[in-house]
Amino acid sequence: MKPIKNQDSNTTTDLTPQCIHCGLCLQSCPTYVELGKEADSPRGRIYLMQAQQKGKLDVQGSFAQHISACLDCRACESACPSGVPYGHLIENARELVEKQLHRPWPVKMLRRYIFEFVFSSPKKLRFHFDLLRLYQRSGLQKLVRNSRLLKLFPNHLEELEQLLPDLTLKSDRINIGSIFKPKASVHHRVGLLTGCVMNEIFGSIHHATIRVLQLNGCEVVVPQSQVCCAALHSHAGINSTAKQMAKKNIEAFEKAGVDKIIVNAAGCGAKLKEYDSLLEQDPEFKSRAQTFSQKVVDISEFLYDLPSLSPPGPFHARVAYDDPCHLLHAQRIDQAPRGLLKRIPELQLVELQNPDQCCGSAGIYNITQHDLSMRILKRKIEDIENCSPTILATGNAGCLMQIAYGLNLANLPQIKVMHPIEILDQAYSASSKS
Ligand code: SF4
Ligand code: SF4
Repeated sequence: MKPIKNQDSNTTTDLTPQCIHCGLCLQSCPTYVELGKEADSPRGRIYLMQAQQKGKLDVQGSFAQHISACLDCRACESACPSGVPYGHLIENARELVEKQLHRPWPVKMLRRYIFEFVFSSPKKLRFHFDLLRLYQRSGLQKLVRNSRLLKLFPNHLEELEQLLPDLTLKSDRINIGSIFKPKASVHHRVGLLTGCVMNEIFGSIHHATIRVLQLNGCEVVVPQSQVCCAALHSHAGINSTAKQMAKKNIEAFEKAGVDKIIVNAAGCGAKLKEYDSLLEQDPEFKSRAQTFSQKVVDISEFLYDLPSLSPPGPFHARVAYDDPCHLLHAQRIDQAPRGLLKRIPELQLVELQNPDQCCGSAGIYNITQHDLSMRILKRKIEDIENCSPTILATGNAGCLMQIAYGLNLANLPQIKVMHPIEILDQAYSASSKS
């Protein structure tokens, strides 16, 4: 089959030859399992992409609907015997939807505002999160919730507002441009990606990451001028902005002169590791992006591979680990986080029945496809409840928020949600006290 030219993006993408339509990916697809429709399966979506490329199907209507309903979780990639690069295909299809779908202008404006303004710089993001903090701290949130005012608005605005994490505590964000000295003899100079939501909501996880790295002989640089990784932009099909942001990050980490680029959020790590393919057509950045992507490591794989990892102290808990899709399916990492947790004395690691299934968070999927996201989350929460852990550990911002929200809805406050690095950090702290 001939390569097919995507007229809008000027890229040539051969969509078809690798998919042999065997259907082996179907049962691994959360939207197929939930909806039972071929068009909401990986194979069905590939059929839709092919029909669109052959001019038999318009981007409006069912194409946009089924492409948008994909979580981009990439479970189908892990299941596929033919090596179909599904993540790549869906991002191309989303780019087409973004360019051609007729959206109402307020929706277009809002998308531009969020993706191209708010997420374009850490300062702008900080300002908007500070507004959210004010909304919560001032008591306005309580007032709005008690008044049930949001019920009057369409698109589940009331439920979406409930997804907001608690921002009333003082922000724990890391200052971009900081350098943290090692607390053991130096082996590595590493850079830390602060990301967008991670730094604004989960700054404490960054602090835990830095403490663990320092204890293991790393000087941690938080490079100046870094920006959001642009995973949200690529998933939304806004690839031109994603490329600009990738270039800014490459420049920022080049200047920092680090051996490794450490990421503690699976979605961001997966995106950084794919900057090489994002910029493969860019003559100036092609090889710089390759060098950059080769340096990117998830915090779990970095520590797991450290031959001299300091022994952590005891941590009494029954911990279930849930695989973030972009760590498991996009980066193929499953043993490193489990292996690190197993090294902690007194920690009992238990397995969920389906740790590989998506929680339904998927970037902003829980906002754009709220009903389906909640159905997928319900399965995850049932799995967690059946396993009865005291802690659910997972390494991605979206998953941390989504699972905490689901546990709260299911009235399971006894199960705490933590990042594996927070557990390791607390184990080190216990070891220093004993
Ligand atoms: S994507 Fe892979 S597993 Fe799914 S139908 Fe195509 S070849 Fe089979
Ligand atoms: S990425 Fe996830 S939701 Fe999308 S088709 Fe593949 S398995 Fe299904």
